[in-house]
Amino acid sequence: MKVLVTGGMGYIGSHTCVQMIEAGMEPIIIDNLCNAKDAVLDRIEALTGTKPQFYLGDIRDEAFLDGGFNQHDIKAVIHFAGLKAVGESVAKPLEYYDNNVNGTLVLARSMRKAGVKSIVFSSSATVYGDPEVVPITEDSPTGQTTNPYGRSKYMVEECLSDLFNAESDWSITLLRYFNPVGAHPSGTMGEDPQGIPNNLMPFIAQVAVGRRESLSVFGNDYPTPDGTGVRDYIHVMDLADGHIAALKAVGEKAGLHIYNLGTGKGSSVLEMVDAFGKACGAPIAYEMCPRRPGDIAECWASTDKAERELGWKATRSVAEMTADTWKWQSNNPHGY
Ligand code: NAD
Ligand code: UDP
Repeated sequence: MKVLVTGGMGYIGSHTCVQMIEAGMEPIIIDNLCNAKDAVLDRIEALTGTKPQFYLGDIRDEAFLDGGFNQHDIKAVIHFAGLKAVGESVAKPLEYYDNNVNGTLVLARSMRKAGVKSIVFSSSATVYGDPEVVPITEDSPTGQTTNPYGRSKYMVEECLSDLFNAESDWSITLLRYFNPVGAHPSGTMGEDPQGIPNNLMPFIAQVAVGRRESLSVFGNDYPTPDGTGVRDYIHVMDLADGHIAALKAVGEKAGLHIYNLGTGKGSSVLEMVDAFGKACGAPIAYEMCPRRPGDIAECWASTDKAERELGWKATRSVAEMTADTWKWQSNNPHGY
């Protein structure tokens, strides 16, 4: 089965392509490489023995997308392509809405022309804003987003929901990721952020490998057991498997399908720091700092719906997340 994977050269997309090939699917990748390196393709080939077809281009280029759909008998699309840095989205809202919202509209239009009406979209737990109750279920309120990145994800969810309301033969799957971390267990593929990492795990990994002096822990006065923020970290390989499970279970069923992809378990910043220290064999230097504006105290998923309807459940532990990240970071201290 041929599946078009937008953003397939990126962090989550590349790991998903590996798992897709292992599952007998054929990913066709489209990526403009604005946040990825072409070396990723060789790493996928080295792991799977298959080099996926790759088209360099932008999802906002409708003629380019139309060409891709004309050349291949595509059955479904997994749509990862987008910009994802929260801070940057505040400084560059137009770029974020254009890439994430307009990009998805162009893609959906091109899909409709080609008669491809199955899409799996990379959404985020950020659409829930600051949750009133945890664990967060798929029915928890959405839309109280705090930055343009989060709003772009929420807007795309609304656009795709309206599309389904108007054209009920589409299969639209919104996957709300919690905090993806980790790397392929081989240590040959992983997250390769450009510049100063925004997210906790790549920052810790760069401290561990000596690229940065110490981690700033953003706040230790939250109403959580140790005062630091609590998140639902999910291994990127589990996340990748979640996409395959979604395609298999609902990818051919018309409907609007919404799932949380998390583990159902929260970990604090200090617990992650401690786990990483164990994985790399040395304590991670850190200092307590004020809260980061816009951050919430705690956020973790109810995973019941995904387990029930997709037959999928995350299985990899925090120890595996940190060990695999360390393997990737220590083998590739400067990324790809
Ligand atoms: P990533 O930046 O590593 O991957 C995104 C890929 O899309 C990159 O390879 C980039 O070059 C490509 N891309 C961006 N704009 C494009 C465009 N207009 N045309 C073609 N290609 C384009 O990010 P990721 O961490 O792999 O995230 C994948 C998706 O999951 C994103 O949509 C992101 O918003 C979403 N998501 C990520 C996280 C996370 O913490 N990593 C959490 C929730 C949701
Ligand atoms: N965090 C931190 N220092 C950093 C980056 C993140 O203390 O350099 C904390 C952050 O305040 C939050 C948790 O780590 O409590 C996860 O942050 P991340 O940016 O990775 O994910 P998100 O906030 O989007 O859930």
